[in-house]
This record gives sequence, structure tokens and C-alpha cells, in this order.
Amino acid sequence: MTRFDRLRLDGVTRRFGDADALSDLTLEIQRGEFIALLGPSGCGKSTALNCLAGLLPLTAGSIWRDEIRLDTLPPERRGFGMVFQNYALFPHMSVQKNVSFGLQMHGVNRTEARRRTTDAIRLVHLEEHATKLPGQLSGGQQQRVAIARAVVIEPSLVLMDEPLSNLDAKLRLEMRTEIRRLHQSLGLTTVYVTHDQEEALSLSDRLVVLRDGRVQQIGTPEEVHTRPANRHVADFMGYRNLLPGSFASGKINILGVRVTGTPVGHLPDGTPAVAAIRPEDVSLDGDLEATVDVVEYQGREFTVEARTADGLVLHLRTGRRLAVGDPVKIGFPADRLLIFPGGPS
Ligand code: ATP
Repeated sequence: MTRFDRLRLDGVTRRFGDADALSDLTLEIQRGEFIALLGPSGCGKSTALNCLAGLLPLTAGSIWRDEIRLDTLPPERRGFGMVFQNYALFPHMSVQKNVSFGLQMHGVNRTEARRRTTDAIRLVHLEEHATKLPGQLSGGQQQRVAIARAVVIEPSLVLMDEPLSNLDAKLRLEMRTEIRRLHQSLGLTTVYVTHDQEEALSLSDRLVVLRDGRVQQIGTPEEVHTRPANRHVADFMGYRNLLPGSFASGKINILGVRVTGTPVGHLPDGTPAVAAIRPEDVSLDGDLEATVDVVEYQGREFTVEARTADGLVLHLRTGRRLAVGDPVKIGFPADRLLIFPGGPS
């Protein structure tokens, strides 16, 4: 394995035509870290990964592994392993051959290659399937072959692009645990692309939230989850209520109800602001009057949409059995409400 202490992306930019798919991404990744690149469709996640992999040349910026400049090297000389969403296994080769193929390409001798292939297959629990063809395996098993194939070359960095997106919900959860376990046992440095915030939160040491090709926030899952840097990140992290109001004296006025929260960013008195709160944090013990519009049963709880007389929609979760048409009085616990600058959109 190519040992390194840190990998550095410095102002990495990729333009298509006159649009930046990725703008000025600067990020330092420590050896052994699990980094998730997170954001909605089209935000530049895959572009960032492909720039790292060497599949896309940079328009500007540079990539470094310690003191070695990588962005001028072809993909095969960067020493990275890759796992993509469509697995890209060779259909006519057995699991064993698929896994050992990369070792042959790297000129590893046969005895060593056999040992490492067996180890990698054992690592992903596919010993019993080693002689099968990919077509004879389930989606999750194929996914594990793809992972074994990526890690067998002992890469300095593993790049994963939505590797679980083709799997059903149960298998996704199982594979998520598997990926975390592998990461911990091998200490692999990993960059993982996903649009699924739960996946990013549960897997990563740090996450990079992108929007329109620009970094919105870099932080630990807890930081990004509890202290989103702006309302776009908040929106993406499950703050479904983004309520327009105006800011004055440390409070936001929402339809005449003054609510206390934590201001994030520059908020002069009298300016438009947006209150952000998660549905599960909204209370039914407040001053904002609304009427229940939609109720969905979610197992233990109900998700409820309520509407004020002015048409403002509020999302909440509650254990209380509410019916459509019920009047409610919505409240916002001060320690759960964030206030961001700006108008409604
Ligand atoms: P998704 O989750 O849908 O895969 P993403 O976050 O990975 O999205 P990218 O694939 O990185 O997004 O795309 C970022 C932007 O760059 C998009 O607006 C996309 O349309 C554009 N783009 C990507 N590849 C090309 C290309 N080869 N030519 C032109 N534009 C491109």
C-alpha cells in the first residue's frame, strides 16, 4: 500500500462549457478517514470523485498525496481502488478472477495474488461463492465482489460512488454496516459519494456538503446535523420546516408569533429571516394556530401537515392521534430552532 499521511485537494475546479460542475473544492483528508461527499442530484459529487480518480482532468486546482502531485498522473498510477454503482464486474469471469484481475494488472506474482485474493474474498464473506459467475449472485453479493476487487490491491484510497444505490432497503442497511466494518478493520481511507443523508451520517468521519458545485459545509456528522451552516444544508439535513419571517431583537416573527431560536449568520434587526426546525422537534404546545391537513401513520408516530389560516404549511411528528380538520397550536422549542438570514426561497 502506498503509505501517506494526507491527501489534499486544493481549489479543485471542473468546468463543462461555461458552467462549473465543481468550484474550488479544498479539502484535506487524513489517512484512515472516511469522507462522505453529500448533496442533491447534480451538485457535483461524481465530478469531484472522477477528478480524484483521474477520470476527469481538472480545469483548475491540484491534488496532492503528501508532497506528490497526483492530478497530473493517469488513474492507474494514483493507486486508488474504485467501487461504482453498477459494480462493473466482468460477467464471464468467476468471483475469484474478478477479484484477482487487478493484482495481475499490478504485476503481483501468482502465489501472492492467490493469497491476497483468498483474503479479500474471506473479508467480504464470499468464500462459498468464489467460483461462481457474477450473474449467479445476488445484488448484495455482487456489490461485495466489487468491494473485494477494490480493496485487494491495497489502495491508498478507496473511492465509492453511490455503491448501494441499486440495492433494496434491507440490503442497503446490511451493506452499510459491512462497509463500516471493513473500513474499521482495514483502516482504509475512503471517499464515498451519496445523496442519502442517513448513509452519509452513519458512515463518515466527516462529510462535505455540496450544492451547485460549491462546498456548503465540511464537518463531522454531528456538526452538520445539529449546526448546519446555512439553510440549504439545513433543508438537506431534514429541517423540513423553513418558515419565513422577520428578525428583530434576537427573535423571529412568524405570522405575528415571536419565537426565540439560535441565529446562524449575519442577521441585522428588521431583515427577512427563515426559521428552520425538524418535524420531530415541533411541539403541539405553542401559539401559532393551524389546522391539521394531512396525517400519515408511520409505525410508532404520525407525520402531520398542518396549515395556518395564511396558508403556511408546517410539518410535525407526534405520537398524538390527530385527525384531519383538528385545530392545533404549534410551538417551537427555542433550543431546536435555527434562524438563518434571507427571504423564503
Ligand atoms: P447525481 O447524484 O445525479 O449523480 P452529482 O452530484 O454526482 O449528481 P455531477 O454528475 O457531478 O453531479 O454533475 C454536476 C453538474 O455537472 C451537473 O449539472 C451535470 O449536469 C454537469 N455535468 C456532469 N458531467 C457532465 C458532462 N460530461 N458534460 C456536461 N455537463 C456535465
